Amino acid sequence: MVTKAHPPVLRELVQRLAKLPGIGEKSATRMAMFLLKAPEEYVQSLAENLVRLKRDIHTCPVCFHFTDGALCSICADPSRQTGELCVVETSADLLAIEESGAFKGRYHVLQGALAPLDGIGPDDLRIRELLARLQREAVQEVILATNPTGEGEATANYLIKLMEKYPVRITRIASGIPMGGDVKYADKVTLERALQGRRHVH
Ligand code: ZN
Repeated sequence: MVTKAHPPVLRELVQRLAKLPGIGEKSATRMAMFLLKAPEEYVQSLAENLVRLKRDIHTCPVCFHFTDGALCSICADPSRQTGELCVVETSADLLAIEESGAFKGRYHVLQGALAPLDGIGPDDLRIRELLARLQREAVQEVILATNPTGEGEATANYLIKLMEKYPVRITRIASGIPMGGDVKYADKVTLERALQGRRHVH
């Protein structure tokens, strides 16, 4: 427990660390005590990382993945120009697919899924930018890799309707990822199967 016996700076640190996902006050206190004893250099670079995270990281203007450069490393890589565009909800999903090594094309990060009950509509996602890419880039296939959840399915169906008039093949990742599952938590083999087993939807 953090008490009045703790110096204010320590108390504040514990309160801030306790807001991190999965961290309660007990773990936060343990982390704060660790940092207190850790070498100056380590704590200094950790603090710099935190500052640079907010200062240098922004979204790629093409695919909306995180980057600290003008373009993300995938958009900047000419060998990724395969004509395949994989549409995901979040950067975490993109990273999971990248880790699987099963996909060699480019991505488009929607930055969420349609959720009318939470007030998230098409204008809140990077849908307009996706359509612009279909006109601008030589896209032959759009792979819809939104999550197999109600919201992810609704988003995929909405995109299928919107893209009907474009001369692209549209596929949806299917088998492998269980209904209600999450792309970013799927293991390598499951993701590989999901991509291989994608089905033609338009
Ligand atoms: Zn990019």
